[in-house]
Amino acid sequence: MIHDRHGCACCHANLGALFGYDPSRAAEIAVMPISRLESRLTEARTGLVTQTACGTKFMVDLPEDPALNQTVRVYSGGTIMTVDASFSNAEAIAIQGAHILAVGTLDEVKHAAGEQAELIDLNGRTLMPGLIDPHTHILIGALMDQAMDYVGTGRFSTTAQVLDFIAGLHDERPSEEWIVCRNYYPMLQPFEAPMGFQTLDAISTERPIFVLNASGHIGYANRAAFAAAGVSEEVENPHGGEFVRDDRGGLTGEMRNQMAFSRVLGARPAGAGSAPTQAVLQTCARFAELGLTTVTELGLGGLLRGAGDWDILRQAGATGRLSQRIRAYPLYAFDAAWDDANLQPGDGDALVRIGGYKLIADGSNQGFTGLQREPYHSVDSTGIAYMTLEEMTDLVRKRTAQGWQIAIHGNGDKAIDNILDAIEQVASEGVDVKAHRIRIEHCSILHDEQIARMKQFGITASFLIGHVHYWGVAMRDEIFGPDKAKLLDRCASLERAGVDYTIHSDFFVTDPNPLHMIEMAVTRQSWKDPDYALAPEEGASRECAIRAMTSTAAWQIGSEHEIGSLEPGKFADFIILDRDPSRVPENEIKDITVLETWMGGEPTYLAEAPGRA
Ligand SMILES: [Zn+2]
Ligand SMILES: [Zn+2]
Repeated sequence: MIHDRHGCACCHANLGALFGYDPSRAAEIAVMPISRLESRLTEARTGLVTQTACGTKFMVDLPEDPALNQTVRVYSGGTIMTVDASFSNAEAIAIQGAHILAVGTLDEVKHAAGEQAELIDLNGRTLMPGLIDPHTHILIGALMDQAMDYVGTGRFSTTAQVLDFIAGLHDERPSEEWIVCRNYYPMLQPFEAPMGFQTLDAISTERPIFVLNASGHIGYANRAAFAAAGVSEEVENPHGGEFVRDDRGGLTGEMRNQMAFSRVLGARPAGAGSAPTQAVLQTCARFAELGLTTVTELGLGGLLRGAGDWDILRQAGATGRLSQRIRAYPLYAFDAAWDDANLQPGDGDALVRIGGYKLIADGSNQGFTGLQREPYHSVDSTGIAYMTLEEMTDLVRKRTAQGWQIAIHGNGDKAIDNILDAIEQVASEGVDVKAHRIRIEHCSILHDEQIARMKQFGITASFLIGHVHYWGVAMRDEIFGPDKAKLLDRCASLERAGVDYTIHSDFFVTDPNPLHMIEMAVTRQSWKDPDYALAPEEGASRECAIRAMTSTAAWQIGSEHEIGSLEPGKFADFIILDRDPSRVPENEIKDITVLETWMGGEPTYLAEAPGRA
């Protein structure tokens, strides 16, 4: 196996440089023209800012006539899963404009809706709250989504399949275009020959091909890409990067760290990617098909190194064409930039809003950079601390004093010790840490006494559940060994302890498929070996797994007053499914079809739904 030590893509504060945007032009990039401002009647559009954090202005459509779109619709005749405090089902729900008007028995709801209401028969289908992915990287992820083809584990199980796909792109796409792919993962996609010149030159010696590792830290290319970039056999390694060579000193096509591979990828002709706002709109439109109504940006600042990222998301909201709500978490790496922009928690509106503040304690376990108490199973290392305990404590102190929620990336058990120590320190200084809803991101390896400390300080977890499904066998055999691997993503133990948790995709680390993620949390089945489940005793209950992408996720991103359950007064963010995820056999949750997705009372995705006139 490959022992590449790299951080997780999530903690990669410089990935924005991949796209060649110049941070000094942030104001201009944030308002790059998008093709068309389309009128959509969302209540959330009213009251939008026109002044960006970088000081420029952008156009906002005029607010619509509030008398429009107030037709009341009543749904009944199927399962209406409210995900309220008692996880109850209702007989009917009424939607008026952007909001939920009533939930209850059909008689109650019809009475509240009035005689003019439109009655819709669910025909046995299931209506539930829109799904929330509480930890994604929607901005850089969207740019990667637009500019690169996905070849990750969600799609291909071997490198041979990846290469076949690339060969297919070579045949289909216009010959002047580079072929650029993302999310390749050799640790999980077994190969006969390593990715690079050997494999990619066999597809083309003339047309540049580039493949990005799922970590975001390693790239692979063919000789044509090196030639297009003017990188010859004589190339010297840039500071912090490496052009990997074979035993005889020849280049292999593999490049370690962005300092190296950006020299090659940077030669791709400009215009290959979309304007950032356009990319966000397009990727969010795709995510609506998966039932998502809210996504997140847990690394705000990663593209333009400051408030320009916030302007892009705000402009995406201002178009009226955004298919999800976005909650954004500014990244600590740009701490001074947030002060300069005077960014405050809660800035924005119900569509696009600032959530909490993001810190990073360590790297990733699969990259052997997650910070551990004991060395890894197959590598003599305990990983990397991204910040000292003092630095972490200082930032938690500063940002809690300003009223911020705190989200800290922690993968290894020692990193989580450090996070808990930092929180305990500020708590001892009088900070009411429970009020700050501290979240530990990934929170991958947890010992019992750490769970008890989380409970003590009101800290919740957000699990990258693909760690169990996609990496489960590697966690057991290579990364931790069988005993420590059982401490990964301990859903059941947290439920018993009364510590809330959510699950997330960390898009673009894994691509979101919320119903599949709910199934992963319940079954803990391995993608690599379908007969194997990693620590099945840690499987989530069906209710908590569903809450992990609805009500608990809403609470964790500070939006439980407006989304996450179907209750009167909340936004009409809901989905209609062909089957009930709380009832189908647990290994069929991923096979449920999303038929309709609605956000703020408007459809963002409609499949051809049988039974609807
Ligand atoms: Zn992370
Ligand atoms: Zn992340």
